[in-house]
Amino acid sequence: MSDAAPLTEPASGRCLCGAVTITVAGMHPEVDICHCAMCQRWGGAFFAGMKGEGITVAGEEAITVYASSPWAERAFCGTCGSNLWYRYLPTGHRSLLAGLFDLPPGIGIERQIFVDEKPDWYDIAQESPMLTGAECIAEAMSQGPGSD
Ligand SMILES: [Zn+2]
Ligand SMILES: [Zn+2]
Repeated sequence: MSDAAPLTEPASGRCLCGAVTITVAGMHPEVDICHCAMCQRWGGAFFAGMKGEGITVAGEEAITVYASSPWAERAFCGTCGSNLWYRYLPTGHRSLLAGLFDLPPGIGIERQIFVDEKPDWYDIAQESPMLTGAECIAEAMSQGPGSD
C-alpha cells in the first residue's frame, strides 16, 4: 500500500438494490486493478478494488459468498447480483468494489496486476505500476500469511 493518507470522511457504498450497504471509516484513496481471467469472468472486465480500515457491512443476509479458489472467496448480493468484494483468505483482507462507493474526486490507481492476462480491447490511461501474474504471486508468497 502506498503512503497516501486515508480519506478524511467515511466512504459509503451500496449494491444496486440497496439490500447491502458498506461503510469504510478510513478508505485508502487508491484503487487496485486486477486484469486476471477470473476477475474478467466474474465482473465482465477488470476488477477495481479498494481497501480501508473499519469496514462495516449491513444486510449480511442478502450476501452470497462463492469460494472461487482454495485461497479466496468472492461475495455478491443475492438479490441484485452486484459484486461486493474479493477476500484473500490467508490474510482475511477484503478488496471492495470501487464502484459501490460514493467517492470524492482525486482517487488514484495504486497499481495494476495480472497485466499479462489483460485483453487487448482496452488500456487504462493513467500511469500506474504494473505487475504480471507471476510477479504478483511471487510477491504474495514472499509476504506470507498475516501481512497485507
Ligand atoms: Zn443488491
Ligand atoms: Zn483478478
